Amino acid sequence: MRIDVITLFPEFIDSCAGIGVVGRAQERGLLQVTTCNPRDFATDNHRTVDGRPFGGGPGMLMTIGPLRDAIESVKSATAQSARVVYLSPQGARLTQEKVLEFARMDRLILLCGRYEGVDERVLEKLVDEEVSIGDYVLSGGELAAAVVIDAVGRLQDGALNDAQSAEQDSFTDGLLDCPHYTRPVSDALGDVPEILMSGDHAMIRRWRRKQALGRSWLRRPDLLARVSLDDEARALLDE
Ligand code: SAM
Repeated sequence: MRIDVITLFPEFIDSCAGIGVVGRAQERGLLQVTTCNPRDFATDNHRTVDGRPFGGGPGMLMTIGPLRDAIESVKSATAQSARVVYLSPQGARLTQEKVLEFARMDRLILLCGRYEGVDERVLEKLVDEEVSIGDYVLSGGELAAAVVIDAVGRLQDGALNDAQSAEQDSFTDGLLDCPHYTRPVSDALGDVPEILMSGDHAMIRRWRRKQALGRSWLRRPDLLARVSLDDEARALLDE
């Protein structure tokens, strides 16, 4: 998969995408993250990419010209079509479902805003969808783009050393993950639940499912309301 990021701060994306699982995915050739700076398409001596908003008001907006050229340049880099996603507090909230949808694509273009945002005509005519990482306002789209790259990158086949770890993660089956423990068995902070050391895999699976259901019920009842529960899940919740 190839992800192109249009940003005034390419070094931010380069540093985030070069480490951990995403860095490894790039090394393994599973993911390619490239950046494109709209400033490289500015036509004046000052390499201007922003302008004052018509109608007055505070702040500046990213102008059409450099963004249009950056998007066109990135699109024409390969023959494959790519969805253009603008990171925006006004977009649809990013979910694991959306991450999975992105992860199945061959290409994605992420557009990062700065200042007060982007001229609305860019959003209307050149952007396919808007995605938000939460109900708060960041100073730029780069952090949000890094979130998308990380969540999408780790889902590329072969990116995680154990593919099963993504399957048990929170949200994959619609619920939160169960608690996990490692050595030591006993500590001043508490003991590992005995069932996990019993070797009884059927009982361990059942215990984990019950924990995941219980946690979801306590912390995210909205998730439980959305999943369709099978007979075992209903029985575990009733216990
Ligand atoms: N005036 C804009 C508004 O209220 O909708 C906010 C502009 S914000 C200061 C600058 C840029 O940060 C935005 O263009 C967007 O790319 C990015 N951004 C801010 N908050 C975000 C969020 N919650 N999710 C994704 N991107 C965000």
